[in-house]
Amino acid sequence: METKQDCLFCKIAHGEIPSKKVYEDEYVYAFDDINPLMPVHTLIVPKVHYDNIGDEVPNDLMGHIFNTVPKIAHLKGIEESGYRVMVNTGDDACQSVHHLHVHVLGGGKMTEDSPAVTHNA
Ligand code: 5GP
Ligand code: ZN
Repeated sequence: METKQDCLFCKIAHGEIPSKKVYEDEYVYAFDDINPLMPVHTLIVPKVHYDNIGDEVPNDLMGHIFNTVPKIAHLKGIEESGYRVMVNTGDDACQSVHHLHVHVLGGGKMTEDSPAVTHNA
């Protein structure tokens, strides 16, 4: 399986660095963010390394990653109350870990201003 050396999320996805696992299957690993912005803040990462959403991610894998989102929402009990899905990409969006990841945020009321939800603010 393709991993990138010294990539934090490659190591987390393959159990080399501990994390609070929420869900796992053959293609993705989901775990709680270490610095949660909301009561629910889970990250979904592919087990194969891609730098970001623009890194020629195969369609079936991209679909699988996003189809995992409602599963996480169900496991976290926020499917009815709602949730926000965020994919920071590049410098302007403050992407800090360069392994593709999808943030699933919920468990409380968020502002309508989506870009306001950043962990570096
Ligand atoms: P980004 O800013 O790249 O979209 O998001 C990276 C996220 O990874 C941040 O929300 C940050 O809190 C989280 N994060 C960084 N290092 C770790 C870690 O070692 N463990 C976990 N669980 N989350 C991390
Ligand atoms: Zn990686």
